[in-house]
Amino acid sequence: MKVAVVGAGVIGVTTAVMIKRTFPHLSVTIFGEVFTPNTTGDGSAGLWGPYILGDTPSEDVLRWAGGTHRWLEELWRSGLAPEAGICLVPVYRVTSDSKGYPKPIWSSLVYGCHELSPELLKKINIEQKSNYSGGWHFLTYTVEPTLLLPWLLKEFKTRGGIVIKRKIKSFEEFKMEGYDIIINCSGLGARILAQDTEVHPIRGQVCRVDASWQFEVHLSDDDNGNYIIPNMNSVVLGGTHQAGDYNLQVSQEDSNFILKGCYRMSPALQKSRILKEWVGLRPGRMQVCLKLEILRSKNGENYLVIHNYGHGGSGVTLSWGCAQDVVKILKKKIFAKSKL
Ligand SMILES: Cc1cc2nc3c(=O)[nH]c(=O)nc-3n(C[C@H](O)[C@H](O)[C@H](O)COP(=O)(O)OP(=O)(O)OC[C@H]3O[C@@H](n4cnc5c(N)ncnc54)[C@H](O)[C@@H]3O)c2cc1C
Repeated sequence: MKVAVVGAGVIGVTTAVMIKRTFPHLSVTIFGEVFTPNTTGDGSAGLWGPYILGDTPSEDVLRWAGGTHRWLEELWRSGLAPEAGICLVPVYRVTSDSKGYPKPIWSSLVYGCHELSPELLKKINIEQKSNYSGGWHFLTYTVEPTLLLPWLLKEFKTRGGIVIKRKIKSFEEFKMEGYDIIINCSGLGARILAQDTEVHPIRGQVCRVDASWQFEVHLSDDDNGNYIIPNMNSVVLGGTHQAGDYNLQVSQEDSNFILKGCYRMSPALQKSRILKEWVGLRPGRMQVCLKLEILRSKNGENYLVIHNYGHGGSGVTLSWGCAQDVVKILKKKIFAKSKL
């Protein structure tokens, strides 16, 4: 049985590895137009944390984000952190919302999540010249995608997975080439490939700096909030989220906003060296699309497509948990294939 995975981003590669691990006998091929280090995830901040997910149901977010958190924990504990780019980091997540910051639904997935005391909040507000009304502190993981993706691709190939650089114009191509199942992990590309006009770009600009002393994550959940996210070899300063904007050029206005905001939050960053500025397009959607679709080819045959796209600002966070759900669907359908 032959499986084609469209997409070599963090969603496609985690899904392909999970399939190959679960069904070693299946022939699995990743088709991607763009590979690491040029995918959206490569430039992302790699922080575990549900963010910009539209109205994706909470139970799905919890299952997918929880699956990924447990996987990152497993990798970190087993000593694979340096190769896979995983760090355990303390996080301050705050808001200026007048209603304060209710307990996050994912609080039990991270370690030691507790609300910031009024005293600590006051101290942060003085230090950061801010006006936060509430926030939470906890430990979680960052995973540097420029390390994670090559590591996963190596794991995939070691298990016999095949990798092909190719732009796919239509799912029909696979039917003609004898593939039995297609897994659509094309991110923003699903807008054209799956003709899903709900998928749209949410532009994000970030700046990577060299600041080896910065270990803590500071993230403001305000609409115009900034964030500081240390990765293994650099620190990500952010960020923007501009829905419907396809502009991949670095904007000076956004750079000023990012640097000014992050320098205010942590003045020592003014001493850091700017390594890179980068823009990526998050695959936005009202809800993550993870479902099975049965399509009919031109010659009247049915074929299976499992969609897994539209992860907005949380592709890294949801990746492994979503891959687990794809495998659950495959398990059911492989054994029930005769019903197609
Ligand atoms: C500034 C910024 C910061 C971020 N920070 C975080 C963070 O801290 N934590 C987090 O969890 N998420 C973060 N994200 C979000 C995360 O990067 C995305 O959700 C994630 O990268 C989406 O992964 P993907 O694999 O679906 O898409 P992509 O990485 O865009 O990959 C899509 C793949 O599909 C391929 N493809 C598409 N169409 C076709 C086709 N027709 N034929 C062949 N191949 C095709 C592409 O070539 C590519 O290989 C951030 C994003 C940005 C922009």
